Amino acid sequence: MNFLHFCVALFVAALAIIFGLAFMQPTVLAKFFRQKTYKIILAGPPASGKGTMGEVLVKELNATVIGTGNILRAEAASGSEVGVKIREVMAAGGLVSDDLVIPAVVSQLEARKEGGWILDGFPRSAAQGEAFAKMIKENDFARPSLILLLEVDDEVAVDRISGRRIDPVTDKVYHVKTNPPPTQEIADRCITREDDTEDRVRERLRIYHENTPKWVHAIEAVGGIPVIRVDAAQPVAAVKAAIDAEIRRYDFLTFLSKITNCGSLVKAC
Ligand code: AMP
Repeated sequence: MNFLHFCVALFVAALAIIFGLAFMQPTVLAKFFRQKTYKIILAGPPASGKGTMGEVLVKELNATVIGTGNILRAEAASGSEVGVKIREVMAAGGLVSDDLVIPAVVSQLEARKEGGWILDGFPRSAAQGEAFAKMIKENDFARPSLILLLEVDDEVAVDRISGRRIDPVTDKVYHVKTNPPPTQEIADRCITREDDTEDRVRERLRIYHENTPKWVHAIEAVGGIPVIRVDAAQPVAAVKAAIDAEIRRYDFLTFLSKITNCGSLVKAC
């Protein structure tokens, strides 16, 4: 085979690969590029759907949720001395002290060195962002793949919260209008969270807007951890599709970075 034949064969092979990839189902392609583990910081204002999306992502990405709200609620319910203080702060819509939250999350991350996780509700303050950034620099297992920020307007958040109901038996979250409890029995036992009143939500939103840029900046400064913003005011299926698309993009760029040995591609994502 002379050089010309070789070039033609190469060209045909390249075309076959390009057309093959183009006609393959996106889901097949996605599986090809999929990472072994994902470590995701899932953040957003109250009622942005972090809990719902966390559940969806856990199933798809083979990860576990580390939710600081749930960890703190469990401590508050235990009735311990610390729990009583935590409950007061949470009920007022404030932030629980960094001294309590940071060690709790560190021990959760240390217990999950190997697997993937979805970190729901942490970091939430500048100090938490800085403590986490330090931990990431010192421990590769703590490095998040990406930060997923769910964005909704304050008024949408307030509207969603006013209809939010929790089933205390299963911890499932419902909304009286958009996602009502499936049976009357469940509806009857549902409760409203103590911090889900309008004034407390407005306080939580104020704290969220004040703190989020600070901790995001601290984690971004570590380098190579992309921040992905998703419009979470859309219906659940659309939010999920947007997140899927972003994760596929992240997977593809990670794959390209590996084969080209160029870490900056993921950062550019
Ligand atoms: P969530 O279930 O994520 O909406 O959290 C409920 C409440 O738990 C918040 O309003 C805070 O009072 C408290 N909380 C959750 N995560 C944190 C955190 N990382 N730092 C401080 N307080 C937190």
